[in-house]
Amino acid sequence: MKVLIVGAGPAGLTTAVELARRGIVSDVIDLRESGSGLSRAVGILPASLEILKPSGVTGKLLATGMKVRQVRIYRHSSLALALPLKGSGADDEFVLGLAQDRTETHLRDVLSELGGTVRYGTELVDLRQDANKVTVEMRDGAKAEYDYVVGADGARSTTRELLNIDFRGHDLPETWSIADVDAEGWPNTNAFTVCQLSGGDVVVVVPLEPNRFRVVSNTEDALAALPLNLNVTNIRRAGEFKISIRQAAQYGVGRVFLVGDAAHCHSPVGGRGMNLGIADGAELARRMVEGGLEGYGEARHKVGKEVIAFSEAVRKVMTSRNPVTRFLVLAVLRTASFMPALQRQFAKKILYG
Ligand SMILES: Cc1cc2nc3c(=O)[nH]c(=O)nc-3n(C[C@H](O)[C@H](O)[C@H](O)COP(=O)(O)OP(=O)(O)OC[C@H]3O[C@@H](n4cnc5c(N)ncnc54)[C@H](O)[C@@H]3O)c2cc1C
Repeated sequence: MKVLIVGAGPAGLTTAVELARRGIVSDVIDLRESGSGLSRAVGILPASLEILKPSGVTGKLLATGMKVRQVRIYRHSSLALALPLKGSGADDEFVLGLAQDRTETHLRDVLSELGGTVRYGTELVDLRQDANKVTVEMRDGAKAEYDYVVGADGARSTTRELLNIDFRGHDLPETWSIADVDAEGWPNTNAFTVCQLSGGDVVVVVPLEPNRFRVVSNTEDALAALPLNLNVTNIRRAGEFKISIRQAAQYGVGRVFLVGDAAHCHSPVGGRGMNLGIADGAELARRMVEGGLEGYGEARHKVGKEVIAFSEAVRKVMTSRNPVTRFLVLAVLRTASFMPALQRQFAKKILYG
């Protein structure tokens, strides 16, 4: 079976790894000149660790990531709730904090151990298909034929555009800010720290390494908005980003399929995006080898729709500017702080969706 994977982000690399461990070494291309240095997704959920275990990727992730076992919610600088991430009663429950570029490096390393490689500097510009094959064309004019093509080329997917698939949804008007920093003395190194500010503003701190953190906010300057003391020694990257809430009307046409952000995108609240793409890639690879490809699109569209709804519900509650909603959120948090059963329900939702 000849498979082309367009895009070497987490979704494309997972598809390639999951095919390779079943004996199918695909061609993986990416228009970048080398791997990305951006640490976009920082939370790896238990489901993704389970998916990536058989290939050996999970072992590498666990060796480098930070085990986040708590969510600490502050009203400005006062702690409102410290929620242990204990949802199912399993001994060791956590979200793994790790910068996305590190996650991609581990996926690439395992892919190369399994005989695969990423061809960088190669951009898909055209594709045509008939009942038996897909013919693709690259920016340099090179053409090739494949049995299947996987569009893992992100939110602005060329593959999706070439298939004429509608990317339905909307863009949020507000700008969010992000900073990846080295810092010392932060007390919450095993926790997601969420600070609720006035008027629906929020700042979140995620540990990535013992002294490396992600700070993200729906304000103009995440670091300036943080009401707690983070002793920053180095700013690796600071910038702004916009959020789109969109989902492809269908996850493929004929012999061409979509995975990851090419099929869906939403806010980083809840930390679902990359994890959803990892699950898409794993399921597509399994169906390519074991059968049931025709059910891929419908199955993953349904999951994607649910995840987008969950992520949007959390974002709206977290950033609500409505004083009644904010009062209710605080009341629920206060109640949860002395109700272990409610805390477990929250934890379960965060860990397992
Ligand atoms: C600020 C921020 C924070 C986030 N935090 C989280 C988080 O905590 N948890 C989480 O789960 N998710 C998070 N996300 C979302 C997450 O980063 C994405 O869901 C994830 O990167 C999508 O992976 P992907 O492989 O589908 O696409 P991408 O990572 O976008 O990779 C697509 C690749 O395709 C390549 N490509 C594009 N077009 C072509 C072409 N024509 N030919 C060849 N190659 C092409 C690109 O160069 C790119 O390398 C965050 C996103 C942002 C912006």
